[in-house]
Amino acid sequence: VCRRCGRLWPLADPAWRCRCGGLFDLLGPSRDPLDTSPGWSLWRYRAVLPVVGDGSAWQNVSLGEGLTPLVPVRPGLWCKLEYPSPTGSFKDRGAAVMMALAVAGGARRVVADSSGNAGRAVAAYAARAGIPADVFVPAGTAPHRVAAIEAFGARAVVVEGDRSAAAGAALGAVAAGGAWYASHVYRPEFVHGVKTLAFELWEQLDEPPRAVVVPAGNGTLVQGLWLGFRELAACGRARSVPAIVAVQAERCAPLAGMPPAGPTAASGIAIPHPPRLGEVRATVLASGGQVVTVPEEALAPARAELAGMGMAVEPTAAAAWAAASHVQPAALPPGPVVVVLSGGPG
Ligand SMILES: [Zn+2]
Repeated sequence: VCRRCGRLWPLADPAWRCRCGGLFDLLGPSRDPLDTSPGWSLWRYRAVLPVVGDGSAWQNVSLGEGLTPLVPVRPGLWCKLEYPSPTGSFKDRGAAVMMALAVAGGARRVVADSSGNAGRAVAAYAARAGIPADVFVPAGTAPHRVAAIEAFGARAVVVEGDRSAAAGAALGAVAAGGAWYASHVYRPEFVHGVKTLAFELWEQLDEPPRAVVVPAGNGTLVQGLWLGFRELAACGRARSVPAIVAVQAERCAPLAGMPPAGPTAASGIAIPHPPRLGEVRATVLASGGQVVTVPEEALAPARAELAGMGMAVEPTAAAAWAAASHVQPAALPPGPVVVVLSGGPG
């Protein structure tokens, strides 16, 4: 359904936005997400995931994503390890669901834009699905990140300019025809893949957490958790949703209304102009959470502290840990607090 004009579109349509320019949400039957199907991946929640056709396309796309560890760190504080995902981040959850729809919809080529983990995830799932992928990355993207995309056989196209320029180039390629836009920012099914993280937390803790601390760039993790927790609440599993604490690096914190202040080591969340900024900020507030910014000098010690506990992550993930353990621990509610660690060391 179009968020702007309310027009209904079939799920199998390759369109990524409405003719009026509005972005899509998904409508679906309301069911209990924890009434799971057989299997050992996030597809055990497939009764509440968007699928088309006979619903079997995921079997040729899945890399076993989901079912990641939840590790107790100290009383009341847990880490949800998303970095053991197939390509090292929670983006695999969204990419798997998105690519299953692309396959079911007959996509012959996919196009994405990303400078990091999302591009890597799309490249991997496109390879798994046997579909060629072009990933547009902004100039200045670290060479090892470009190589991580190309490693899956995808074509990485370096675009002069910033992240928005890369998105513009991807849209140009989609407009030229023949390609399916695998956008983790615009495709609502991506967030529906990410919502499975909420279901897992619920099952692993046997109760809803009181708060979840997440790194936020484009905010797909915020939106996915919110969607998942609300679906659980809607079916009577709980009266309220956990507070979602969105963490940004002080040097790039548009959610906190701060001006950009140079490059940050937390490059995975350095998105100066996220297209869904207002929506993400509203979600954080509606959940009872807040935006927390982390000073640059706190990233390296937080990363080292995690490594000292056996958890090796990229600086972006360390930002979430820094926020929960050092910056504002007093702001967190008592009871189970979960810090999401997404993004492996390299
Ligand atoms: Zn519309």
